[in-house]
Amino acid sequence: MKVIKPGSTIGILGGGQLGRMISIAGRNMGYRFITLEPTPDSPCGQTADRQIVASYSELEAAKELANASDVITYEFENVNADVASVLETTSFVPQGSRLLKITQNRIREKSTLQSYEVPVAPFMIIQSENDIRRAVESLGLPFVMKTAEGGYDGKGQWVIRSESEISDAIETWKKADMDMIIEKFIPFSKEMSVIIARNSLGDSKTFPPVENVHINNILHQSIVPAGITAQQKREAEALAIKIADSLQVVGLIGIEMFLTNEGEILVNELAPRPHNSGHYSMDACMTSQFEQHIRAICGLPLGDTTLLSPIIMVNILGQHLSKVLDKVEQLPPTAKLHLYGKKEAKENRKMGHINFLGTSTEQLLQQIKELQIWD
Ligand code: AMP
Repeated sequence: MKVIKPGSTIGILGGGQLGRMISIAGRNMGYRFITLEPTPDSPCGQTADRQIVASYSELEAAKELANASDVITYEFENVNADVASVLETTSFVPQGSRLLKITQNRIREKSTLQSYEVPVAPFMIIQSENDIRRAVESLGLPFVMKTAEGGYDGKGQWVIRSESEISDAIETWKKADMDMIIEKFIPFSKEMSVIIARNSLGDSKTFPPVENVHINNILHQSIVPAGITAQQKREAEALAIKIADSLQVVGLIGIEMFLTNEGEILVNELAPRPHNSGHYSMDACMTSQFEQHIRAICGLPLGDTTLLSPIIMVNILGQHLSKVLDKVEQLPPTAKLHLYGKKEAKENRKMGHINFLGTSTEQLLQQIKELQIWD
């Protein structure tokens, strides 16, 4: 296994908060960082040694990043395929481009998972108006229509609940002029996720499963330990290992899952990078997801992921920031504030998060409620 020793330079494609937190963890270990990101003074640019200010799709800039880096990673999955292949041919990109290609497109992602016999919500590919009608007949109502590419935080996604909304779905599909899927609506009892790291020797380590609460399709809270049975925890971890091994993952992958009312686990989505629902690990696990990602891509042994404390992570969106700052002196001594250095606090933009540590998740829910920041 190729080992990238501390002191080497890690190049990060993308300059957002995930890159920022990767670079903070890596700096502690003695690595240097360079990031490629079009927005100057980006969250990662502020913590890296250097930022190349250029578009992600600019090949010359990608080459400059590759030349200055001993290893390259990315902090988002929508990396231009041409750029990914330039990076792969001129530099060391242990995560490879195959996983990127699969996870960039829901059709490829879900079909690949099915080929590994990983349970996913029943779905159909939509390429014509008739496909929509056929999907309704076979999957029933309600259903979720999703663009195959480019969706995040509920964007590019529509829930259709009644017959009368089907014509709207057809109009939306026509206007978007994109490949889409229709998925059966899953009345889940919980959403959860498992973050797993794997290195090129095939060693892997899961982080403790997380229970996630979304508001308006955006992650609001991650609760650990998740309120699931020991058997469900084992099943979720086993699924994560199966997925990471089947996809030959190197680095970190976040796996979002639904726990159905019948207790079945379905995989919803994969993210081939550190994941928002893994931020709890920064303060509550022996090794954070960011350190683990670096260990995995640099060929170091994977760190212990033992949970050290019950924890709830709460996201700070643009609309929450001023309240958080107003109440910063009232935060309990066991709350850890993380802000990402973004200039403008736009509605629904992820500005930071707080990790609340305590004796139980019930106590933490009460503590968070009393702060009255997220009402
Ligand atoms: P996604 O972009 O696929 O991660 O979906 C965003 C959110 O929409 C999920 O976290 C769920 O809360 C909800 N969602 C997505 N797909 C479904 C589904 N098939 N059934 C019910 N809820 C869904």
